[in-house]
Amino acid sequence: MAKVRIYQLAKELGMENQELLELLSQMGVSYKSHASTLEEKDAEAVRELVREQRGLQEKLAEEERRKSLPKRPPVVVIMGHVDHGKTTLLDYLRKSRIAEKEAGGITQHVGAFEVKTPGGTVVFIDTPGHEAFTSIRQRGARVADIAVIVIAADDGIMPQTDEAIAHAKAAGAKMIFAINKMDLPQADPERVKRQLMERGFVPEEYGGEAIVVPISAKTGKGVDDLLEMILLLAELEDLRADPEAEPRGVILESRLDKQAGILVNMLVQEGTFRVGDYVVAGEAYGRIRAMTDADGNQRKEAGPGSAVQVLGFQELPQAGEVVEWVPDLEAAKEIAEERKEARRAQEEEAQARRPRTMADLLKAMQEEGKKEVNLILRADTQGSLEAIQHILAKESTEEVKINVLLAQVGAPTESDILLAQTAHAAILAFGVTPPGSVKKTAEQKGVLLKTFRIIYDLIDEVRAMVKGQKEPQYKEEVLGRAEVRAIFRLPGGKQVAGCMVTQGRILRNAEVRVLRKGQEIWKGKMASLKRFKEDVREVAQGYECGIGLEGFDDFQEGDIIEAFQMVEVPA
Ligand code: GDP
Repeated sequence: MAKVRIYQLAKELGMENQELLELLSQMGVSYKSHASTLEEKDAEAVRELVREQRGLQEKLAEEERRKSLPKRPPVVVIMGHVDHGKTTLLDYLRKSRIAEKEAGGITQHVGAFEVKTPGGTVVFIDTPGHEAFTSIRQRGARVADIAVIVIAADDGIMPQTDEAIAHAKAAGAKMIFAINKMDLPQADPERVKRQLMERGFVPEEYGGEAIVVPISAKTGKGVDDLLEMILLLAELEDLRADPEAEPRGVILESRLDKQAGILVNMLVQEGTFRVGDYVVAGEAYGRIRAMTDADGNQRKEAGPGSAVQVLGFQELPQAGEVVEWVPDLEAAKEIAEERKEARRAQEEEAQARRPRTMADLLKAMQEEGKKEVNLILRADTQGSLEAIQHILAKESTEEVKINVLLAQVGAPTESDILLAQTAHAAILAFGVTPPGSVKKTAEQKGVLLKTFRIIYDLIDEVRAMVKGQKEPQYKEEVLGRAEVRAIFRLPGGKQVAGCMVTQGRILRNAEVRVLRKGQEIWKGKMASLKRFKEDVREVAQGYECGIGLEGFDDFQEGDIIEAFQMVEVPA
């Protein structure tokens, strides 16, 4: 067994000898004091421990730092069924806010507005529809911290209420239920609460955690309570942002104006944007020429929680894209260009990997380590919808749980596709025909959308998927091999093997094993695959590359890294 000198290990870990010796005695590691060496396996244990401790320290320091940052206002989105009062509530909030300012003040639509209360400020997203909300979440930027789900007290929970709840859940936003139209004589808030309980949301007054506030968007009664609950919930979330951090925002809306050109409404999430800054948002870039806030003021800078209209984008960015700060125009152009390339490649890949059957979809979920498949159901009548749900409820097994995200009467919509894409769900429609445009979108986005004429065909399809899953037959297919020629250690201890691909090709996403003298000594996933510092997706025979593995750092020269994939054996 190889020996490691103590002073060398101390140097490697950036510690004093004495410090290391103390650690060794704490760990109960025996070392030969006369030779000042220790066993390689003990040295590795020390490295491991030091890495762990340092990781923990960094995490604590980061948390500590976060706590010292200034608070930021909560960002709220209002969702719910059509005609339940979303617009009226937004109007009321907007007006109460304007009333506080001097009369006649000009306001500017910037996609969000602030309401200042004695208890704090709340930012309301003011973009039409909640479709934007899903697309926002898809790009990984959580815009809204809180979703207010508006439910009319005279109408109760309706299909789009359920849809709104599903969207808010998928986006990871906290929810507050506002029971609206309380001024109407036929208002029945107790019925709404029962409906909420049926869905697993138990109001606080009944010992649950669901926040329910009765309001009238028309008279304004209860709206102060709503604001108070929003601020209370925000307080619990401890929302903070760093005005000094590298600026980051999110596009709320964008449009082309005949006179003004490209108009972009942006919400700042971190840091501070300044006029003159270069920015990239998805595939669009530009330089901020001017910023206008909701009060119509020209702003030189905009910090966390501010919504502003930005002039200066060269192309139309999409709602939901993250806005990043870049140092100069070159960088901006380059990043935007790279993203265009990456998107094209991704689209091709998505097209190729598009799930064609329920089994494909399930496989994709299982690859992510999930034992469930998400469904969106559509049917011609409430009766058939309930029949389908009733039967499907009994089809879940240990291996596969069937999760119905949304079950609705009527043809599939664009919104269903967004939800399906976000939640990796399949859309199964019975007795209804999706419009051609919806079919096309499903295809483009790689969403599985199937229509059935007979209920039992639908059930059979699901059943077959569940059954077929019990004994999947896979075999291994070797893709290529690479030989380790040199070993590098990164700061932090991670090893990277300098390799030559000697056979086939090495794919970044493939599974790999390490062979030493013909014996498998490790199997797992790659942490990195690079050529000249560039991350690459594949390296072909005859080329050199750097390979890092997830959780393996014991390379020796001459090791063979074998890349393989599991292919399904057709039954
Ligand atoms: P949205 O589709 O959710 O945006 O709903 P709207 O805000 O457009 O409201 C639909 C209808 O309900 C309108 O006629 C509103 O005037 C009415 N409405 C909204 N809130 C209230 C309320 O609190 N009380 C009463 N009586 N009517 C309301």
